Amino acid sequence: MKYKFCPQCGSELKPKMAGDDGEVPFCYECNRYWFDSFESCVIVLVYNEFDEIVVCMQDYISKVYGTITAGYILLGENAEETAYREVEEELGIKLDNLQYGGTYWFEDGDKLMHAFMAYSPKCELKLSQEVNSAQWVKATKAHKVLFPDSPGNAAMGLLKQYVKMKNLQFED
Ligand SMILES: [Zn+2]
Repeated sequence: MKYKFCPQCGSELKPKMAGDDGEVPFCYECNRYWFDSFESCVIVLVYNEFDEIVVCMQDYISKVYGTITAGYILLGENAEETAYREVEEELGIKLDNLQYGGTYWFEDGDKLMHAFMAYSPKCELKLSQEVNSAQWVKATKAHKVLFPDSPGNAAMGLLKQYVKMKNLQFED
């Protein structure tokens, strides 16, 4: 999001030089810059001892493609806390580990996705209301049910990292 007016006082912002960043919208009333902002989310690939991952169907996102657990980072949370919280809320799994999977820029809605992988022993999933259904799917076949691969697709990026890490091969 690019600011035109000050979110605090409503004054029109004027460009002002901000060192190496060049011109940045500035509020002369509040005496501060307003850098472009965007949302920060986490996305977590949960896998088990059988090389299966959790794939969710969430009607509000798609009735065709599956997703993996994701959610917004709340004010004051770090990305790891969000990852633990979201997986517990959505799948009923209390994780005790996280592996960092890098970040992905998701154009659709300007979101920075912080990606993680996490191991959980195979268990029954206790779904939140946001999740219509979820199941353990073979990682090597999960590409057929997730959104098609693209540069900003963090779920597929994580899946490819996982398949490579485990020396597996995608199956048709
Ligand atoms: Zn202001």
